[in-house]
Amino acid sequence: MTDLIRATVVERIELTDRLLIIKLRTQKEFSFVPGQYCTFVIGGMERDYSIASAPHEGLLEFFIEKVPEGKATPQLWDKKIGDTVELKPNAQGSFLFDSAYPNQLMIATVTGIAPFISMLRSYIHTGAGSHRFYILHGASYHNEFGYKDEIERLSKKYTNIVYIPTVSRPQDEKNKGWQGEFGRVNLIVEKCIERFLLEPANTVVYACGHPEMIRDVRERLGNRGYKLREEKYWE
Ligand SMILES: Cc1cc2nc3c(=O)[nH]c(=O)nc-3n(C[C@H](O)[C@H](O)[C@H](O)COP(=O)(O)OP(=O)(O)OC[C@H]3O[C@@H](n4cnc5c(N)ncnc54)[C@H](O)[C@@H]3O)c2cc1C
Repeated sequence: MTDLIRATVVERIELTDRLLIIKLRTQKEFSFVPGQYCTFVIGGMERDYSIASAPHEGLLEFFIEKVPEGKATPQLWDKKIGDTVELKPNAQGSFLFDSAYPNQLMIATVTGIAPFISMLRSYIHTGAGSHRFYILHGASYHNEFGYKDEIERLSKKYTNIVYIPTVSRPQDEKNKGWQGEFGRVNLIVEKCIERFLLEPANTVVYACGHPEMIRDVRERLGNRGYKLREEKYWE
C-alpha cells in the first residue's frame, strides 16, 4: 500500500476512559463530503471512522470509542500529539446530507453523532437554509455525549436545530443529577415524530452507530414510508 496518506495528531480530548475526540492534520490535501468516513490503517488493519469535522476546517476530526478487546482501537488510543497515523487516500461512503427533505431526523448512538456534526457544521458554514434538524443522541451515561455543548450552543442560536440527548441507564449513580430524556434512543423516535409532526413526505431519517439501534429504527419506521439512511458501525 504505497498511496497511504500520513496524518499527524494535533489534538486529543479524552472524554472518558473509552471515548476520544482526535484531530489530525494530513500531510496531503484530503477532500471529503460531510457524512463520509476515512479508512485508517492501524498495524496493517483497516478500520473506518466517520469524519466529524467539516471540509472547510482543514483538520480531520474523529470521535472514537475504544473497544477494550478490539484489535485496532487500543493502538489508536495510545497515539499522542505529534504521532502519526496512516489513512487511505479517499474518503468513502454515501451517508450524506439529503437536502430534498425539509425535516432532518438524525439518530445516533454515542460516536454515531460524528457524521451529523460534520453535516451541521458544514450546513451552517455554507450559509444555512430552512431545513429543520432533530438530533436524537443516545448513550449509557451523560458524559458520553461528545458534542453536547456544541449542539446545545447551536440550538440556542438557530431555532431550526433541536437536540435531544437521552441516557439509557437513568438509575445508575453515574447519571445522578441528569435531568434530560432517558431510555434508549430508538425508543424515543416515535415520540419525537409525533411531537414535531414529522411526516414521511417531508422527513429523511438517518440512523448511525449501534447496529441494534439501527435495526430497531428500521423496524419501527420502515413500513411507515420514511426515507431511511443507515450507517452501521459494526455487525
Ligand atoms: C462506516 C463506518 C464508520 C465508523 N465510524 C466510527 C466512528 O466514527 N467511531 C468509532 O468509534 N467507530 C466507528 N466505526 C467502527 C470502527 O470501524 C471499528 O469497527 C471499531 O473502532 C472497532 O475496532 P477494533 O479493531 O478496536 O475492534 P475489532 O477487533 O475490529 O472488533 C471487535 C468487536 O467489537 C465490536 N465492536 C466494534 N465497534 C464497537 C463499538 N463501538 N462498541 C462496541 N462493540 C464494538 C464488534 O462486534 C467487533 O466484532 C465505524 C465503522 C464503519 C463501518
